Amino acid sequence: IEQEFDAIVVGAGMSGNAAAYTMASQGLTVLQLERGEYPGSKNVQGAIMYADMLEQIIPDFRDDAPLERHLVEQRFWVMDDTSHTGMQYRSDDFNEAKPNRYTIIRAQFDKWFSRKVRQAGATVLCETTVTELVRSASGKVIGVRTDRAGGPIYADVVVLAEGVNGLLGTRAGLRKMPKPESVALAVKEMHFLPDEVIEQRFGLQGDEGCVIEAAGTISRSMAGLAFLYTNKESISLGIGCLVSDFAQTMESPYVLLDNFKNHPSIRPLIAGSEVKEYSAHLIPEGGYKAIPQLFGDGWVAVGDAAQLNNAIHREGSNLAMTSGRIAGEAIIEIKGRNQPMIRRNLALYKTMLDKSFVVKDLMKYKDMPALIHTNSRNFFMTYPQLMSQAAQNFMRVDGTPKIEKEKATTAAFIRARSRWGLISDVVRLALAWR
Ligand code: FAD
Repeated sequence: IEQEFDAIVVGAGMSGNAAAYTMASQGLTVLQLERGEYPGSKNVQGAIMYADMLEQIIPDFRDDAPLERHLVEQRFWVMDDTSHTGMQYRSDDFNEAKPNRYTIIRAQFDKWFSRKVRQAGATVLCETTVTELVRSASGKVIGVRTDRAGGPIYADVVVLAEGVNGLLGTRAGLRKMPKPESVALAVKEMHFLPDEVIEQRFGLQGDEGCVIEAAGTISRSMAGLAFLYTNKESISLGIGCLVSDFAQTMESPYVLLDNFKNHPSIRPLIAGSEVKEYSAHLIPEGGYKAIPQLFGDGWVAVGDAAQLNNAIHREGSNLAMTSGRIAGEAIIEIKGRNQPMIRRNLALYKTMLDKSFVVKDLMKYKDMPALIHTNSRNFFMTYPQLMSQAAQNFMRVDGTPKIEKEKATTAAFIRARSRWGLISDVVRLALAWR
């Protein structure tokens, strides 16, 4: 490719597509490079897609985007080996004209998003891995090299939307490799069932959808979360835990997933299904304190490559889309002022991102990752077991006076954590949640 572009976008995931679409639709010349056979072929996501963030990029996306179900119900379960203690919210208000959250299948969704990027005028090349960033004598990023024949490709600015590994940025010394305690390894399966079976099992009508998120002894005292999302004719189901915890415990993600599937609360929901896809992927979970440098001379980083992921609320794709859009808008603004794409000017991206929900949300939970990482046994083993025992003690009617039941429950909590331990856990959790 001889042409010099206004921008090169590395990666065609949520963040890369958002950035490429934003810039191309405003007339910038954009080249997007994706190593996968097609956009979405390398992507693994649960997946819940947040409509508001896509609407800000493609307002009429509902007309033709491949959406599975809109969510009307969310269940959160604390599990021990034989039971779950649940909290759930369901509302008919979510049956609105423009629903707020949808389940999607990334392989199909990314293909659709990429088609929009092309229609907006960007050049998209798949099966092309960016191998290196090209720098000028002064160190400014001025283009990329790929695994295709031919020389470097030049651009005013390179948008790193390469996902959680961020190998390009790391190799170029722009950021450090994420630490094992800042990334989770998640495994996921797709279980196929007829749509009417899914609707009957989850009490759904038409395109209504339900989500279950679960934590507890299923992660074997590691910091982790399991999920189950209803699609039209399939159920996405998976579990993820911190890489540092896997390394320490030597647990296998496949065994954890098997245990989750065989849990008495989950097994009946997927009974008789046909498993068609299995995948594994990393999720950045270090939060605010793990965000690397986001911009420099000739480059910006967006989405998972910038570790922008809210593990507490299990949101990633919306932060990816928003950071991609904002990076695109910042670049358009700088170009409009005829200014060079240097660090000083690209700082605009960070200023705009700081004002958005992306950074504000991550800042709010900045102390959560460390708290969870250092107390995973309490939060993912001890408390789930205590909660289950307490619930069962409360439900079982066996002639024991209620006052004795209450005393037994209180004693069990104190025995497991001590009075001081309980107070300190509550205080630390409240402080980190602020
Ligand atoms: P990615 O989607 O990872 O895209 C990066 C792209 O860059 C890939 O297509 C890759 O092939 C390409 N690439 C990488 N290196 C190169 C290179 N050198 N050259 C060319 N191309 C390259 N988020 C939610 O919002 N809701 C959910 O329900 C949810 N569930 C999840 C479940 C699982 C199991 C996982 C793993 C993640 C989940 N997430 C969820 C997180 C969400 O998937 C990510 O936050 C989101 O995909 C980030 O988008 P991205 O564009 O930054 O990165």
